[in-house]
Amino acid sequence: MGTHGPLFSAMLEEFEDAATHLGLDPGIWRILTHPRRQVVVSCPVLMDNGEIQVFTGYRVLYNVALGPGKGGIRFHPDVSLDEVTTLAAWMTWKCAVAHLPFGGAKGGIICDPSRMSRRELEALTRRYVAEIADLIGPEKDVPAPDVNTDAQTMAWVMDTYSMHVGHTETAVVTGKPVEMGGSLGRREATGRGVMVVTREAAAHVGLLFEGLRVAIQGFGNVGSVSADLLSRAGARVVAVTDVRGGLYRAEGLDIPALLRWATAHGSVAGFPDADPLPPADVFGLDVDVLIPAALENQITPANVDTIRARIVVEAANGPTLPEAHRHLHARGVFVVPDILANAGGVTASYFEWVQDRHGYFWTEAEVVSRLEQVMIKAFTTVVQTGVTHAVDLRTAAYMVAISRVADVTRLRGMYA
Ligand code: GLU
Repeated sequence: MGTHGPLFSAMLEEFEDAATHLGLDPGIWRILTHPRRQVVVSCPVLMDNGEIQVFTGYRVLYNVALGPGKGGIRFHPDVSLDEVTTLAAWMTWKCAVAHLPFGGAKGGIICDPSRMSRRELEALTRRYVAEIADLIGPEKDVPAPDVNTDAQTMAWVMDTYSMHVGHTETAVVTGKPVEMGGSLGRREATGRGVMVVTREAAAHVGLLFEGLRVAIQGFGNVGSVSADLLSRAGARVVAVTDVRGGLYRAEGLDIPALLRWATAHGSVAGFPDADPLPPADVFGLDVDVLIPAALENQITPANVDTIRARIVVEAANGPTLPEAHRHLHARGVFVVPDILANAGGVTASYFEWVQDRHGYFWTEAEVVSRLEQVMIKAFTTVVQTGVTHAVDLRTAAYMVAISRVADVTRLRGMYA
């Protein structure tokens, strides 16, 4: 399958560094660098103005050595097969780093949800799920929220799939509303994981967490919850940005007030108790921790030298281009790579899938404590691997992930 777009090539570069250090068998190398299945579907939707529009959707199953495919569904105008395939590969490594019994998958639809009504979004979601209904399932491939999709979207996924199979199947999708088989703590889980690894990273490099100055790019589910949990835990969130604007306040932003403002206004822009900040300036701020929590390709050779943070925590998937990452590493910046930093979301998704299959639900305290354990274990394993092999943390995280997937691939052997 030929999917060597620019993002997939960036993923391959990261993969190659780690695979070379591992001395990975060339045959296994070949298997792990090919998506298992790529599906493209056309989704006709009757729009509110009476016109029919046809949207293109993708679902990529990258690798299922460790278990069912797992990964979100993204709604965005820039979605492409290259992007979805790469995100599915990253899900494979992410689940393996967190030691979850899942493979990697991802979905996406090319659309601009900010210009669509709720009814149109529901119709699009349902048609997309109908088109991929035979390919997903609790034992096959389990979707979840991602950029511009949320618990309501997942409720529509669950309902549409259930109607197709003829019974209610909660475990087909995670990130659902708590009332219908969702897990307590899932919505906050990616941000919670980001908070945990930021705390561990600060301790590792010898920075005091109390008062730690943090700048966050993105104020969606991941950025906003990270800001909230970091500030509650004692860090000082001095800057946040979103697509419409940014804010800076040296003494730290009032995050609870900002969360209320963003909910009411649909953006952080215009929040009164802070100075406005051009979104691109978030990278060059004098802070201890920079958290890209938006989209891929944000830290590039063009802006990497402006970065002054001691720690970068990649809450987004793929925010740093490989060349920019090499600069950061050479300058001694402690980069917590995406496949480790944002693994909290899929970890809580795993807990949700387990709870759905048991029909027995955990308390929020149980979810939170197990999530912390998984994140701390993953962080420690990756840091130790980095020290043992004298490699950066991204290479170390890939080494942990690749060796787990490679071992099982070898054990399972070739079928025919
Ligand atoms: N979309 C999230 C991610 O990129 C969560 C995926 C999941 O829970 O399956 O990790």
